Amino acid sequence: ERTEFIDFFHHVIDRFEMNVADEIKLKRDLPNGKYDVWMDKDKLFQVLDNVISNAIKYSPEGGTIRFRAMKQQGQLLVSVSDEGMGIPRDKVDKIFDRFYRADKARSRKLGGTGLGLAIAREIIEAHDGSIRAKSKEGKGTTVLFTLPLMNTKRRG
Ligand code: ATP
Ligand code: MG
Repeated sequence: ERTEFIDFFHHVIDRFEMNVADEIKLKRDLPNGKYDVWMDKDKLFQVLDNVISNAIKYSPEGGTIRFRAMKQQGQLLVSVSDEGMGIPRDKVDKIFDRFYRADKARSRKLGGTGLGLAIAREIIEAHDGSIRAKSKEGKGTTVLFTLPLMNTKRRG
């Protein structure tokens, strides 16, 4: 269905804000305009739920998670950045593979199956978008995805 993404994004972040410990700060850098996207809300919730859960899971105490959204080349670009330990450069593309966990010992301790981002990629690609990650070891990770924007202009 047609959904205004920024409003939806705020609601999803609100849900995390209530549950996340005070040691982690959530910062929103979101525009005020309307960004309409044709999407399955439950599926997009699943994507954000996993990406944000990962950011929280890998954040250090006192870390900040930043949420951004902007228009870029006619698409909506959404990102979630954390200040966690990051992912080695040669492994950053593999995190979207099924069952892949970047650091086996650490991941086992933190729990999870390694499916979250593989599912996220399937969902985003089914929406004609793309998803990727940028990371600096010891500095943090940013997960970015795009979604096609709907045309809001009226034809006369
Ligand atoms: P699940 O999501 O199924 O509970 P998971 O979180 O381990 O398990 P994914 O979400 O697919 O699985 O992530 C795959 C792997 O990518 C993780 O195990 C972790 O090694 C790495 N990873 C994902 N997000 C981050 C992040 N924000 N910072 C550091 N490493 C990350
Ligand atoms: Mg996960």
